[in-house]
Amino acid sequence: MQYGAARVPRYTSYPPATAFHAGVTEPDYRAWLKSLSPDAPVALYMHVPYCREVCWYCACNMKLVRREQPLRDYAATLEREIDLLADALPARLSVGAIHWGGGTPTSLTDDLLGHLMAQIADRFHVSDATEVAFELDPRTFEPARARTLASLGVSRVSLGVQEFNPVVQATVNRIQPFEKVQEAVTALRGAGITNINFDLMYGLPRQTQSMLESTIARTLELRPGRIALFGYAHVPWMAKRQTQIDAADLPGLDARFEQAEAAAAALVAGGYRRIGLDHFALPDDALSRAVDEGRLRRTFQGYSAGDPPTILGLGSSSISTLPAGFAQNQAEVGAWRRAIESGELPVHRGYELTREDRLRGFVIEAIMTDMQVDIAAATERFGYPEDHLDAALETCQPFLEQGMLLRQARHIRVREDARPALRLIAAAFDSHFEMNTLRHAVAV
Ligand code: SF4
Repeated sequence: MQYGAARVPRYTSYPPATAFHAGVTEPDYRAWLKSLSPDAPVALYMHVPYCREVCWYCACNMKLVRREQPLRDYAATLEREIDLLADALPARLSVGAIHWGGGTPTSLTDDLLGHLMAQIADRFHVSDATEVAFELDPRTFEPARARTLASLGVSRVSLGVQEFNPVVQATVNRIQPFEKVQEAVTALRGAGITNINFDLMYGLPRQTQSMLESTIARTLELRPGRIALFGYAHVPWMAKRQTQIDAADLPGLDARFEQAEAAAAALVAGGYRRIGLDHFALPDDALSRAVDEGRLRRTFQGYSAGDPPTILGLGSSSISTLPAGFAQNQAEVGAWRRAIESGELPVHRGYELTREDRLRGFVIEAIMTDMQVDIAAATERFGYPEDHLDAALETCQPFLEQGMLLRQARHIRVREDARPALRLIAAAFDSHFEMNTLRHAVAV
């Protein structure tokens, strides 16, 4: 497949975060917050950048932590940030979803998590309908904590599984036997947290197709409702930890593609529905229902089942998505803390959306979620003539010629077998995109 060599954004936002700049300042963010509707619910994203173990493939904003004090300090600052954010809003807003990500949010003790959840409930309207989702590292998760998470209102948990093969696990410094993952899943289900996601990976060092197929077989035994299957992106010039990985151990582009397709076929044969670029869900999972009801969304957290479109990010490096644009917090914990201690929202860059961005973002999100879009309806919706994106449509010509895309007038639909090329097709509508920029991961 020719598109395997291209490097394109993941389109968890449009424009991608690489377009953010320092021209968006704290006063801009305050003005955007003030103009939010007092009646519309929001989602919160809580970032905890600490982990107790490091994985060599990791490109996240995280810090290794061995002591409790940095975690206590971080939680105290996060509490202060919740106050600052709530004070900047036009009213006490309802929260439709709370996502805890990182890093490893369960690095924080139950007490610290309890305080933070109480603080959120104090400053926002939180109800039984609020989905509370946690990312979880099975290596460091004590099964007894499942009941605490349930008592905090946690209703969905994502486990970083990646690959069960011990050779691959050793190569990426992430040792977690199947039994450890099974123990966590059993404890979570026993505590009533039945919405379980697994993250799996292909393209890892020394990983083969048959290893990945056994990982899928073992995953089917545990039957999580939702699975994300990501390709490892080797970008050691950006993610220093990846220098621990020998590039010679990585599967080539063809092998990566074969791994991804074999894993997808095994999951589909196992009863999962293929969703978007890299997600799979059982038919009764909320993500499957969102597809049927046209509510699937693409956000910084991946695919979501119709969370509120406004997402307010808290914690170092977190990104807020507002109707006016994107705002990102200071990535470095010290700078983030200093801003909060001086009473400022810790925003240091972002992007203010233009009408053109909204149109292109709408088209790109439709391609990434529904795999089809009526360009004429989209241009009309945003007040442009129907031929406004014809130049972008022209750049789709090679995809049409290769049979990856079907076109009727200005309606395009990506064929099922061209699903791995979704990002590349979306890129045709991205006016910020530069082909082969090394700042983005391999497209497959
Ligand atoms: S992959 Fe997850 S658990 Fe591993 S170092 Fe990165 S954030 Fe931490």
